[in-house]
Amino acid sequence: MTDPQKIWQGVLGELELILSKANFTTWFKNTFIISIDEEKGEAVIGVPNAFTKSWMEEKYNAAIIKAMANVSGNNVSSILYQIQTLKSASHQHIPAGRLQQQTGGALEPLQTSNKTQEYEAPNAYGLSKRYTFSNFIVGAGNQLAHSASCAVAEEPGIRYNPLFLYGDVGLGKTHLMHAIGIAALSRNPSSRVIYINFEKFTNDYVAAARKGGFDAFREHYRSADILLVDDVQFMIDKEKTQEEFFNTFEVLHHNEKQIVITSDRPPKALIELEDRMISRFEWGMIADIKMPDQETRRAILENKCKERGFSLDPEIIAYIAENIKNNIRELEGALNKTIAWYELNHKTPSLSSVREILLNVLADPARKYLSPRRIIEAVAEFYDVSLPDITGQCRKRELVLPRQI
Ligand code: ADP
Ligand code: MG
Repeated sequence: MTDPQKIWQGVLGELELILSKANFTTWFKNTFIISIDEEKGEAVIGVPNAFTKSWMEEKYNAAIIKAMANVSGNNVSSILYQIQTLKSASHQHIPAGRLQQQTGGALEPLQTSNKTQEYEAPNAYGLSKRYTFSNFIVGAGNQLAHSASCAVAEEPGIRYNPLFLYGDVGLGKTHLMHAIGIAALSRNPSSRVIYINFEKFTNDYVAAARKGGFDAFREHYRSADILLVDDVQFMIDKEKTQEEFFNTFEVLHHNEKQIVITSDRPPKALIELEDRMISRFEWGMIADIKMPDQETRRAILENKCKERGFSLDPEIIAYIAENIKNNIRELEGALNKTIAWYELNHKTPSLSSVREILLNVLADPARKYLSPRRIIEAVAEFYDVSLPDITGQCRKRELVLPRQI
């Protein structure tokens, strides 16, 4: 009998490759398998809430069934979604008569969840210990960003302030930020290091505005020794938060506290932001990150294998590195998929099977470049609203969610 947990890990590995990171994290982060009944062709999946349940039923059911068939070769044709949390699952009573194994709640959360990976120190906020300089592979493409990051971690607030890192998604910006924070803390354990994604900063700001917790909000960020602000492109169209951040920036910079910023584009291309904000971004050091060359991609894969205690033929590593060129998250996804497949099938890796495993990943048209326009169109179509409505100014309720997406 196959282990349901392994099957679910394999399914998640597949889905991670075909969905955007945001979608995958939003919908699959807290899901787990409860049982599989191979005779009936039925599986039961635990989901955290009713919203996710209906989303799964309507949007992802077919993809999950397909992924299950790919991963386990069994014929699960119907899936029940049960609202449950991982914790409550461990106390759950399982109806008799089913061929199943319980997850026992011990299932490792998905890799995308950082909860268990949090860097624990009273003066560190939001840092993940998964991302360090020691597991960051340096090569053409990220060399400058890496050395600037090291310099900042060594002498925060002194050399490059702010440090502005930019590059496409999945190329290691967030990784470097956490690495800076962790390295700086190991040099000076009493420094106050805050990592925040700009979206979260915005949400916290809005919540503070609503609940009247402004002073605490301000004080929190303004007393940082190192403030790491990820994805500032989310600042666009958020005037109030932008102003709040601008003022925080001024205070910190004036006090020679280190600020590190990332974005998907250079400061000059953030044209929607106020000039004074853009010019601050350009005060220090700007470094871009490009996709690493093939040799570096190979080194990254080798390192990831080592970390996971898994050994793959150099030929296979080379094949993956050669064929996945878009971003490193995808590279990791392909590796995860390969590893999941082997763990399930207990077979020795061979190049031809890897080719097979990655076939749909490599051929998937969704991997082709998606323009912002194409994305807006897809969202408009999905919610059945018009393009002018979704991009316009009207604040009708039914337009809010599609617009945010
Ligand atoms: P970004 O923030 O630029 O979108 P991330 O920092 O989230 O990208 O990186 C995506 C994934 O790729 C992460 O799991 C990260 O650890 C990994 N990664 C990126 N660059 C490297 C590198 N040079 N060496 C090792 N892993 C890397
Ligand atoms: Mg990032």
